[in-house]
This record gives sequence, structure tokens and C-alpha cells, in this order.
Amino acid sequence: MAYSTAEVVDTVTQDQDFISRTAIREIRAQIVTLPSIRAHRLSNTEFSKREFVLVRVRLANGIEGIGEAAVLGGPRWAEESVESIQAVVTRYLSPALIGCPAARPAEVAARMSRAAFRNNSAKGAIETATFDALARSLDLSVTTLLGGALRESVPVLWALASGDADQEVEEARAKLATREHRDFKIKLGFASPEADLRRLQKLRDEVPEMRRLIVDVNQAWSEADCRRYLPILKELQVDLIEQPLPGDDFEGMARVAAQSPIPLMVDEAAFSHREITRAGTMGCGSVYSLKLVKSGGLMALSQAARVAESSGMELYGGCLLEGSIGAAAHLAVFATLPRLPWGCEHFGPRLHVSEIVRDPLVIEDFHLRVPQGPGLGVHLDEDRLRDALRPS
Ligand SMILES: [Mg+2]
Repeated sequence: MAYSTAEVVDTVTQDQDFISRTAIREIRAQIVTLPSIRAHRLSNTEFSKREFVLVRVRLANGIEGIGEAAVLGGPRWAEESVESIQAVVTRYLSPALIGCPAARPAEVAARMSRAAFRNNSAKGAIETATFDALARSLDLSVTTLLGGALRESVPVLWALASGDADQEVEEARAKLATREHRDFKIKLGFASPEADLRRLQKLRDEVPEMRRLIVDVNQAWSEADCRRYLPILKELQVDLIEQPLPGDDFEGMARVAAQSPIPLMVDEAAFSHREITRAGTMGCGSVYSLKLVKSGGLMALSQAARVAESSGMELYGGCLLEGSIGAAAHLAVFATLPRLPWGCEHFGPRLHVSEIVRDPLVIEDFHLRVPQGPGLGVHLDEDRLRDALRPS
């Protein structure tokens, strides 16, 4: 039986029995390893397999929800690693949450923030799994619990990040031919700017069908580099430049943005709502990259979107190369946003050679379909999961 949102509110606020049946009973954290289809390079790391933590939250009613805690090649992109996430979930967050009703998400979030500082990836996975279990208990989608869907699919780009221009030309052509992706993100910063620009020129020349082009420098350039190379990026018809300067250089980003002919996107600079407000009001960029690992929860991710917009930034659906579970969590929020003009980059599930869910996400006509409920709309494949678990 499906419920309306108003009925959910009535159920959750008045039914004491429901509240006790949705108390959190058990939280487990398992490290999963999935090989990538090719090496993926960023300015400060490179990897050919991806590890993440699968978080499983079981309620008193026996229903289990799932969430994904993403990292990028160890504690490099942010401070968390799969090992630290597993330890923080098991030793600190789980004890703080046992007995807490999933039907009170604000209390779940408050207990986590008292138990651990930051650790946003761990918290985001637990909140995702808790929402998934709660939504399944109500036979609703997580999107419905977060306000309801305004869209059924989101435009999705593909990232070219091998650093091998010939390979990237082939990869881009293949994605266009299958009508999966026509917008592309090019990872820069792991070679010299001159070499990166030659790579970009080759892609523009040999794949003219590429539509929107975003370059992600991952904090690797200096302000002087930006002054030197931004005019060339403009000639190459780049649409957006992501976080060229170090995340803590708000003043530098604001100076570059003020002179740039291309909009800048704020990523590593802003995790908290205060940082988003500061980045927006200082003019560090005109687009903000939304990520669960920066916000630390689905509700906070949803709020981050409002904060970024009210600080003058447009929205982009960022990722940390999550698999299907993490991507579904992001989509549950993205579906509720009134505006998402830059689409999303949740191509992560396609970067793995295998899946641990029975119902992989669908990409068609350059859009990623929002999975339908109950819960997140994705279900674990226990056999595949067994093969992918890191031996303990
Ligand atoms: Mg980025």
C-alpha cells in the first residue's frame, strides 16, 4: 500500500507503535572493492579499482536499508578512508544510534553530529541507509520522503580521465554513438597545463559532436596559471571550470572568477553550509557542485542546494565516483530540486566492471533515470556482494 506525504507525516508523528518498530537495531559497515574499466586519473591520485563502504541499517521491524560511503583512492580527496569509515561507523556512530527511531531523521542526524566531527562520508551512508529502511517500511520512495519528485531523469555527463588523448577520443565517440553521454568532463592537472591543453584541443578537433565541456583542475593550478590559460580554455569553448585553485584559497578563486570569461564551479572549497555561503557571497564561483560526501546526509545535501542558490550559485550534481547505491542516493535528492541546470555526473556505476545491485541504474538518451521506490529503488545482489567484499 502506498501512502501520501500527508499520511506519512500523520503516521510518523502520531503512531508510537510505528516509531518503536522503526527503531535502529543494527548497523554494519563492509568494505567493497570493485575493479574499474580503466585507470582514472585526478590531479593528485590515480586508481584502477574503487573501494567504498557498504552501510546496512536494520530496523526493529526487520527491514534493512543500504547506503554507500565513498572515498577516492584513500584519504586524499578528503580525510576519510574506507578503513576509517568502517571504524567510525562501528565504534562511534553505531552505538550513538542504536534505539533511535528512523522515523525521526533530524534526531538521527543530531546524534551523529554529537558522536563524530565531520566524517561526512560515513554519516551520509548511514543517513542514506536509514532513509532507505524507513521508506521501505512505508512502501514509499526516499524521494517522496524528501519532498517528492520534480523530474524522472537527470542529464548525465561522462568524465574523460585516462590522460591518453587517443583513448579519450575513442571513449567520447563511443559514448556519443550509444546516446549515453554528449556532455563531458575532462580531468586536468595531472600533466603540465600545456600538455593538458593539447589533449583538450585534440578532443575538440576530433570529436566536434561533444556538446557541453567542463574541465576539472582539482585544485592543481595557481592564480598565475589561471590568468595564462583561461583565455585558451575560452577559445576551446569550455563551458565551466571546476575548482582550479586550492580549496582554501577563497580570495584567489574570487579574483580569478571576477576576470574569467568562463563560469567557475566551487567544489573542494565548500563542504559546510557556512563555507557554501562564504564561497557564494565572495564570488568564488557561480556554480556549486553538490556531493553527499561534502554534506554528510541527504537532508543536508538538500539544504546545501538551497544555501548555494541563495548565495548566488547555480547547481551541479557532483559525485565521488559512487556506484549504484550512492548514485541512487544523490538522485533521490536531485529529483526534488526545482532547478538543476548543469545536470549531474553520476557515471560512476559505469566505471566499474561489475555491480553489487540487482537493478543497475539506467542511462538512455543522455539522461540517468531516477530509480523508482520503494526506498532508493536499488536492491543488493548478495552473491555479487560476497565476491566483492574485501577479505577481513
Ligand atoms: Mg571536482
